[in-house]
Amino acid sequence: MSIQFDITMRPEIRLDAKWLKTDLKRLLYRDGLAELWNEMVRDGEIVGSFSDGLVNAAGVIARKGLSNFTLIIHTSYIHIDTDYILFQRESGHYYCNMGVLTCPCCNGICGPQNGCNCGPCQKLDEEEAARTNVSVEKRKSAEQIMDSWLWGSQPSICDLTTCINLLIKEQRKLCYEVANSTLSATRLRQRLVVARRYFTALSRHKPQETKDVSTTSKPTAKLQKMYNNQP
Ligand SMILES: [Zn+2]
Ligand SMILES: [Zn+2]
Repeated sequence: MSIQFDITMRPEIRLDAKWLKTDLKRLLYRDGLAELWNEMVRDGEIVGSFSDGLVNAAGVIARKGLSNFTLIIHTSYIHIDTDYILFQRESGHYYCNMGVLTCPCCNGICGPQNGCNCGPCQKLDEEEAARTNVSVEKRKSAEQIMDSWLWGSQPSICDLTTCINLLIKEQRKLCYEVANSTLSATRLRQRLVVARRYFTALSRHKPQETKDVSTTSKPTAKLQKMYNNQP
C-alpha cells in the first residue's frame, strides 16, 4: 500500500516539449491515463521504491553504488567453524558510470560502486537526503508504549494523554491509507500527477511564437494602411 504513497515527481525540463504536445484529454480515459502514467515511470519522472535508478540532470540513469561487506557467522562452538558470507549493501551514493570526472583521485569514471560521483549524481544524493529527512520522523507506536507499561511503573496522566493522541493519529493514518487506496482515489491521484506534469511544462514554457507574430504583424499592418491610403 505504501508504494502508492511513496512516489516523488521529478519533472525534467528536457521532456517538457513532449508534454506540451500531449493531449491532456487522454488522462480522462483509462487506457490513456495508464499510458501517460507508465510513460512517466519509464522516463524516471515518477520515482518510488519500485524504480531502478534515477535519471540525473545529464539525462543518464544513475544507480546506487553497492559495497561488499562480509558477515562472519560462527556456526559451531566446539569446532571453530566460521562462515564468511558476502553481502552487498548500498554505499549511499548515486553513480552513472560515465567517464565525466576530472578529480585527480579517481579514474575519471563516476562509480560504478564507490568513490567520487559527478555533479549531476551528487544532486541526486542531495535530493534523496532531503526526501529521507522529511520521512525520517518515526516515533514509537502506541502499541510499543503500552507494552512498555506492562512491567513498568504506573503511567502518569500525561503519558496516557500522549498515548491516546498517538492512537488517534495512528487510526487517522490508517483511515487515510484505506480511503486513498481505493481504485477511484488511485486513479484520481494518477490523473492529478499527470495533469500537474503537463501544467509544469506549460508554466516553464516561454512562448516565442506570439512574440514573432506581434513583431511581424506590425509591418504588414503598416503596409496595409499605406495601401489603403493610396488613392
Ligand atoms: Zn554520475
Ligand atoms: Zn575522485
